[in-house]
Amino acid sequence: NSMEAAYLVSQRILTSVRQPVLIDEHEIFMTASIGISVCPADGEDVESLIKHASSAKDFSRKQGSNNYQFFSSEMNAQSKERIKMESNLRKALENSEFELHYQPKINSETHKLVGMECLLRWNQPETGSVPPAVFIPAAEELGLIVPIGEWVLHEACQTTSEWVKSGFENLKLSVNVSPKQFNEISLKKSIASAIKSSGLSPQNLVLEITESMLMGDVEHHITLLQHIVDLGVAFSLDDFGTGYSSLSYLKKFPIHELKIDRSFLTNVPEKNEDNSIVKAIISMAHSLGLNLIAEGVENVEQLDFLRQHNCNIIQGFYYSKPLDKAVFTAFLTSYA
Ligand code: C2E
Ligand code: MG
Ligand code: MG
Repeated sequence: NSMEAAYLVSQRILTSVRQPVLIDEHEIFMTASIGISVCPADGEDVESLIKHASSAKDFSRKQGSNNYQFFSSEMNAQSKERIKMESNLRKALENSEFELHYQPKINSETHKLVGMECLLRWNQPETGSVPPAVFIPAAEELGLIVPIGEWVLHEACQTTSEWVKSGFENLKLSVNVSPKQFNEISLKKSIASAIKSSGLSPQNLVLEITESMLMGDVEHHITLLQHIVDLGVAFSLDDFGTGYSSLSYLKKFPIHELKIDRSFLTNVPEKNEDNSIVKAIISMAHSLGLNLIAEGVENVEQLDFLRQHNCNIIQGFYYSKPLDKAVFTAFLTSYA
């Protein structure tokens, strides 16, 4: 039947595309993503068949490279939703729909505020607030994360600079940076410009990156990070332990801090396995001379465990949720 025929053809396309191509001395590997729609089940005219094959292709691409996917009606609903979200996202920046919230980082020994992480919020006028876990990946895919990330940097540096000037000199601002932003040569420029126009000292700025930045072209990434470290800015490795990273890389990269991922703390101290992982991360960070912070700390049991094992910088609902600018300003005066 036609489904079987489409399957066989797509297998043949995938196999032949997979063959390496030699250009100069370089072996180039290509991949393909195939979407399939079937007549009449998925449409009776060319236009709707192509449209549905195209949604199936988008799904196939998300499954990873070298895949095929048959169209299904849920895809249609999902892709409609997605198209709407994407078109909204394109307008969000110029309509000023983004806002930054700030989550305190507390030294659990001195009970002093050491800094805050800025977290992006999107208040979409029609659909309400959209979680970052939903819109950040979409913004990355659309290439919008670059201008959005630039806005975040400028806005956060400006606000922090005001706080620093009002007497909180040691406040450290952490800003999340997407791997997609590193592909732009403009990243260093936009960091330098955010620092300059806000008057914030680079010592007050920390950039959070994830382990995926440590993969791929290692030497190239080290150079990129080093250029930015030269500005006086520090790097923190976010969600540490959730991605793949070779521990030997840690020493090679100019990184100043590890952030233990929330997922390891969820069952601390009840689950021995998680306790061991957390203890291992703590002792590794200490022996590599890295600062350490625990994120997603929600209760006093977790806090006590971390303190007992010498992890004292804490971020999480136990102390505070991310706060908007006005509320964080009030928080500052009470905690610093
Ligand atoms: P992240 O950088 O790991 O941020 C920490 C997330 O954990 C935040 O979620 C924060 O609200 C949440 N969190 C903090 N403490 C607790 C806790 O005690 N319990 C629980 N259950 N959650 C806690 P949020 O704000 O939803 O952000 C999600 C992710 O979106 C961030 O993860 C980050 O990867 C990304 N993101 C947020 N803002 C930006 C941004 O400006 N730029 C980029 N590129 N990514 C951002
Ligand atoms: Mg982060
Ligand atoms: Mg994190």
